[in-house]
Amino acid sequence: MSGAGAGGVVREPEERWCRMLRIVVDLNRCQAYAQCVFLAPGVFALHGEESLMYTPAVPPDQEERVGRAVAACPVQAITAGGAAGADAG
Ligand code: SF4
Repeated sequence: MSGAGAGGVVREPEERWCRMLRIVVDLNRCQAYAQCVFLAPGVFALHGEESLMYTPAVPPDQEERVGRAVAACPVQAITAGGAAGADAG
């Protein structure tokens, strides 16, 4: 038998990370319309006129706002995926 025993509660920080929604913005498609910035300013920000910055791991309290931003993006540049974690390569 392996796995059970000595330390079952090792992954708490990882699990918190894994629960975060992940987003990717296709910056080649993004036209800096800033809809996402208005809808989820805690995740998206414009630097300069055309440079979009964003937080790829969305905090749980921002998920609803990010969902609106995904829906509102006029060029569908934002992709929201599942939880982070299992993509080590
Ligand atoms: S709404 Fe879409 S096009 Fe506009 S800044 Fe955000 S990602 Fe870019």
